[in-house]
Amino acid sequence: MTGPFPPPRKRFGQNFLTDQNVLTRIVTAAGIRSGEPVLEIGPGRGALTRLLAGAAGRVVAVEVDRDLVRHLSAEFAGDERVEIISADVLGCDLDQLLLGRAPAPWRVVANLPYNISSQVLFLLLDRMPLFSGLTLMLQKEVAERIASGPDEKEYGILSVFCQLHCDVDVAFTVKPGSFHPAPKVHSAILRLRPLPAPRFHVGDEPFFRRLVKASFGNRRKTLWNCLKGQFAADDVQLRSTLDHCGIDPGRRGETLSLEEFARLSCALQGNPFFQALDNVPSPLAGEG
Ligand code: SAM
Repeated sequence: MTGPFPPPRKRFGQNFLTDQNVLTRIVTAAGIRSGEPVLEIGPGRGALTRLLAGAAGRVVAVEVDRDLVRHLSAEFAGDERVEIISADVLGCDLDQLLLGRAPAPWRVVANLPYNISSQVLFLLLDRMPLFSGLTLMLQKEVAERIASGPDEKEYGILSVFCQLHCDVDVAFTVKPGSFHPAPKVHSAILRLRPLPAPRFHVGDEPFFRRLVKASFGNRRKTLWNCLKGQFAADDVQLRSTLDHCGIDPGRRGETLSLEEFARLSCALQGNPFFQALDNVPSPLAGEG
């Protein structure tokens, strides 16, 4: 006997989905192929897990709350399709967790705890080749930020990092009343479809990430002031590299497109891909 569920715990970001229509729409939006393994992060009381088990060949669900793990383990004990892992996903080695159970690609479906959603996204972004697609419930503003471009005010670091590796779209939005307890914010389902290779060459990715973070470091500062003293041997080299890339140092970081960040990253690293980029048509050419 496992008794009743414990009350929702705020510290674990527990807002459980209770709206069956939304749950069904998430599974449809995930587009799980028959037999495909699914990673669920934070199964909670199992509402999504039950539907995923029906759609997928295999579901591995990682839950940090041990009381919920006890309930879920009891419920799915006889179901070979579902495995409940008692762990903090942020401490998991995803290669070990997933590849030991089924070969890639895996699909990720999760109603994420909002307090750690950016950290989870970075964890997943670092292991993109493992995944065929990610369908994630996020705070609406965060989902919209990730899907937006340089001409939109929400555009930020996560937009650049996610769009380097994935096609991104917001599938639909979800009202607070669809959860128990209702969160204070609206939510949205974000879909990320990993590209076979990064959209642009960026050279060394940790360097690229540092460059993007510094460029967005202070939205009131010009790119020149954000980057000065870093990334180039001296001011002369920094200015000539920006000139060579056709990027005005007086612009703000948030006006740079992903392609411009990639171009600048390669140029600052003296990467030969930078030369090649001048002649290669953008993979984004023609997209709206
Ligand atoms: N999937 C359920 C649903 O849709 O009703 C629950 C979603 S609830 C927003 C987030 C879930 O993630 C909770 O069950 C919570 O305990 C779990 N969680 C929070 N932090 C976690 C972590 N670091 N690792 C794994 N699970 C976590």
